[in-house]
Amino acid sequence: MARIVMKFGGTSMAGTERIRRVANLVRKQAAGGNQVAVVVSAMAGETDRLVNFCREANPLYDPAEYDVVVASGEQVTSGLLALTLQSLGCDARSWLGWQLPVRTVEAHAKARVEAIDAEALTSAMETGQIAVIPGFQGVSEDGRITTMGRGGSDTSAVAIAAAVNADRCDIYTDVDGVYTTDPRIVAKARKLKAVTYEEMLELASVGAKVLQTRSVGLAMKEGVRVQVLSSFVGDDAIPADELPGTMIVSEEEMNILVEKGEMERQHVTGIAHDKNEAKIILTRVPDKPGAVAHIFDPLAKAAINVDMIIQNVGRDKGETDVTFTVPQADLARAQALLEDKRDDIGFNRLITDSKIAKISVVGVGMKSHAGVASTMFKALADRGINIQAITTSEIKVSVLIDEDETELAVRVLHTAYGLDADDEAA
Ligand code: ADP
Ligand code: ASP
Ligand code: MG
Repeated sequence: MARIVMKFGGTSMAGTERIRRVANLVRKQAAGGNQVAVVVSAMAGETDRLVNFCREANPLYDPAEYDVVVASGEQVTSGLLALTLQSLGCDARSWLGWQLPVRTVEAHAKARVEAIDAEALTSAMETGQIAVIPGFQGVSEDGRITTMGRGGSDTSAVAIAAAVNADRCDIYTDVDGVYTTDPRIVAKARKLKAVTYEEMLELASVGAKVLQTRSVGLAMKEGVRVQVLSSFVGDDAIPADELPGTMIVSEEEMNILVEKGEMERQHVTGIAHDKNEAKIILTRVPDKPGAVAHIFDPLAKAAINVDMIIQNVGRDKGETDVTFTVPQADLARAQALLEDKRDDIGFNRLITDSKIAKISVVGVGMKSHAGVASTMFKALADRGINIQAITTSEIKVSVLIDEDETELAVRVLHTAYGLDADDEAA
């Protein structure tokens, strides 16, 4: 007997027919004698629709009321799945975020899970009842509904898995695992049998939206065993217990898989892209101590995340240009804040560009192997792709390029690192 959390994303929950397919997978998992909790997303497209309603109702919407609206998508699917499971003869009930409760802290629309009272849930699961929980939603300290940021149901699932001490958290989606890059962009992307928490965390944070970044961080911290797998499977598919998807593993587990020959050691594990950033250039900023602090201080106070930063070589007359990126959604706010501080900062022009993409290559193999960055720069140069900015970390290299060249760049790099499905390991 195992305790399993199963999470189903929006595409898997899109309509009663698909919910029936999900219910069948859940029923089978429970029929094996397992205790099961299911976390569900809203139907595909539903959260976007609800977000648009909020924007139409009031462009400067109150995030607390936004949460009331957008959390409703998951309430619908959790009830529908419980009903469908009951129609299959299963004992099932829904548990809304405020009923468990899933306590969250921080701002509305991007709440973080603080604690989950799992006592009632665990007792119900022990009686064999299937618990169906809407993802994405929680409750704030003052009793108001909160949501955890887009893609947040992954985090709900991992948090529930940690709270009930689950043996595994299976994230069912519309692809059958984590690939070397988005399989919808590169047909030759290769499915990974396993990926380390650290690599998955980097991949997610630079745009591989197959898992929400926070869910990976939480799984790593709590030691939750996470598998990514497809819900679009036939009756003869291998059961989830045989791990047909991609397991997120510790570095030690990965070393064992490599030793056993079940995984190859690559310098680059995966490639991700992100089209949701925007570039800001401030020209003729005084080249003196404190100048950069004047720029980033107001942005930090407004909780605007600055990602890539380059301070160009100083011009004559003690001036320099400073380039950086912010999330596209925060561009207008960042622009207004900087214009407001124009005199303090002392820049000449503020130039913005939203038509950019960040391409990142990630791999723990980089820690011990030089030359990964130069392979990237050469492969892009050979195809005439211009690099506008570069950042690196211990296991990642990111470059900023023109958005129109995103798909080409990802494909070229996938080939350059020997990741194409029909290639040998690099
Ligand atoms: P869900 O609705 O199930 O949460 P998402 O759309 O959030 O699903 O995430 C699944 C999608 O992630 C896939 O359809 C795929 O296009 C995308 N994706 C991006 N990068 C990767 C990757 N490296 N491996 C697998 N899928 C990826
Ligand atoms: N429904 C939410 C979204 O679309 C949460 C999720 O699906 O994970 O972002
Ligand atoms: Mg998702």
